[in-house]
Amino acid sequence: MTGIYKLTGSLQHYVWGGHDYLPELLHIKKEPNQYYAEWWLGAHSSSPSTIEVEEKQLSLIDFIRQHPEVLGSQSRALFGDELPYLLKILDVKKPLSIQLHPTKKQAEIGFAEENSKGIDLKDAKRTYKDNNHKPEMMIALSDFWLLHGFKTKEKIIETLKNRPTLTALLSKLETQDMHGFYADIMQASQTELANWLLPIIESNKIAYEKGELSLENPDYWVLYAMEAMEISPEKLDSGLICFYLFNIVHTKTGEGIYQDAGIPHAYLRGQNIELMACSDNVIRGGLTPKHVDIPALLEVIDCREVVPEIIPPAPQENGAFIYSTPAKDFALENVRYDAGIKVESKAENATIIFVMQGTLKISQKNTALFLKQGESAFICADTQYRIEGIEQGYCVLSKLP
Ligand SMILES: [Zn+2]
Repeated sequence: MTGIYKLTGSLQHYVWGGHDYLPELLHIKKEPNQYYAEWWLGAHSSSPSTIEVEEKQLSLIDFIRQHPEVLGSQSRALFGDELPYLLKILDVKKPLSIQLHPTKKQAEIGFAEENSKGIDLKDAKRTYKDNNHKPEMMIALSDFWLLHGFKTKEKIIETLKNRPTLTALLSKLETQDMHGFYADIMQASQTELANWLLPIIESNKIAYEKGELSLENPDYWVLYAMEAMEISPEKLDSGLICFYLFNIVHTKTGEGIYQDAGIPHAYLRGQNIELMACSDNVIRGGLTPKHVDIPALLEVIDCREVVPEIIPPAPQENGAFIYSTPAKDFALENVRYDAGIKVESKAENATIIFVMQGTLKISQKNTALFLKQGESAFICADTQYRIEGIEQGYCVLSKLP
């Protein structure tokens, strides 16, 4: 089976999501007081997309099961009979928890272990939802702020030195490696957290409220997280200390960043496109009221120094561009078009197209689909297709590299 079929994703209403961005992008009706956090396009078992084939709607998982050849031979050889990636659009209104993702091997072991212990997949204490790794990339759709990996030790020392109540941590860092240092912080008592953080919060309060703190300043994000996540001074979250240890990264519209296994990260603010291996394995590392599994966290976290590498944006001219990352599970292509511009291509493996802006016509042999902003389609492997701009804009395609 080959061809192109209309695809509809699914919404996730996590409370950190915004109210307007996704409904406006997707041209769907806003429900009052509803949170719109993520739009998923893919075949993850917890929320698969719907595909329209011969006027019938079916789950993309069932469609792939019935026609595994639509994945393509390279994809099947590498990843078996499942769609290897998951494409998402996120609207981050409030910070997400600090998180990291396991390697493939860690996920296989963790998933099997939790299964053998009989922990239900929906249990709040369950860490591994599947046996896959989850490398991920994101492309900013606005000014986007995130935490990403440990800063260099030099930079951490500089940050701690400048804050009198954090100098206690400095002497710890001199005698400990980063892993031990981080482990102690994650297990700090409420009294320790209060001693470190409350004086900083107090002395920055007025400047924060006046909007005088720079967004590169970790103090800003501590106060912002306290406010946005409604953290009370009596119940401080050890993840707040991570603003002083991790890189605070600003990506501009079109720029991207890649999260490898074990690298701690947290999305703080903005909208983005996310493309990842098809997995929901998230190990939390603070900034969350949810369960933090400290032993699992310490086993998987990669404490190496990270100098953030920003993936440059797609050019503004018409045509196709691929954002490159080290991941073998996915690649993101960006196609920009004016009305009348045509781009010919062939899907070697299963591909999902999502229209970010404008309207396009996608056609093959004697069938064609018109897709406008927010709409998407599934392109079967071995399908020769043509994208034609109808109204100026751009689309993204998730595929294999
Ligand atoms: Zn992540």
